[in-house]
Amino acid sequence: MARTDALFLATEEYNNRTTFDDYPYNTRQEVEDTWNNDVATDDDYDISISLDGYVKLNDPSTTTEAIREVNNNSTVSQKLNSYDAVVVIDDRNVSGGTGRALVGHAGEDEAVAYCESASIQTAAHELGHIYGASHRDDQNGGTHWQNFGAFSHDVMGYDGVDPSCKGNEPDLVRENRYWDCAREKIRETIDSNL
Ligand SMILES: [Zn+2]
Repeated sequence: MARTDALFLATEEYNNRTTFDDYPYNTRQEVEDTWNNDVATDDDYDISISLDGYVKLNDPSTTTEAIREVNNNSTVSQKLNSYDAVVVIDDRNVSGGTGRALVGHAGEDEAVAYCESASIQTAAHELGHIYGASHRDDQNGGTHWQNFGAFSHDVMGYDGVDPSCKGNEPDLVRENRYWDCAREKIRETIDSNL
C-alpha cells in the first residue's frame, strides 16, 4: 500500500509579507484534498502534506534561479530526509513563470519545486511535476498531452495547449483537479520511487 508524505515549506520572504495566520494552511489543505480526491484510490496513493518551518532564499529574480537555489539549499536537503517531496512557497515576483519543479524525482534528493505564491493551482501543478506528471507525454507518442488540456482546465495543463481531453468535452473545466494521465503518471512514480 503506497502512500506519500510531502512538505510545503514557506520562505522567510513569504512570512515577512504576511501574518502568521496567513501561513499557507489553506493551500496545504486544498492541494491535499485535491490529490486525495483525484489521485488516491481506495487504499493507495494517499498524500499527507505537512507545513514545517521556513527556508531563506537569496532573492532569486527568475524561476530558474529559484529552483536552482531550492535544489542546493541545506534546509531543503535536510527536510528531504523526512519527506518524499518539498514544495517551497514564496511571495515575490520572479520572471519566467509562476513556478518550477524538477520532474519525476519524488523520494530522491532532487524532489523539489518552487512556487512564487501560495496559489493552490500552482502548488498542485508543481507538486504533480515532482511525482512525474507533465504537460505532455512524449513517451506515449506525443499525443498524451491532449489528456491534460490547458492550465485553466486542468492542474497539469499548460497555457496555449489545446483544452481537449480524451473522453471529455473540450470545454469541461477541471480547475484545481488532476485528470487522466496526470493521475496515472503520479501513481507510476510512487510505485517505482517510493
Ligand atoms: Zn508545469
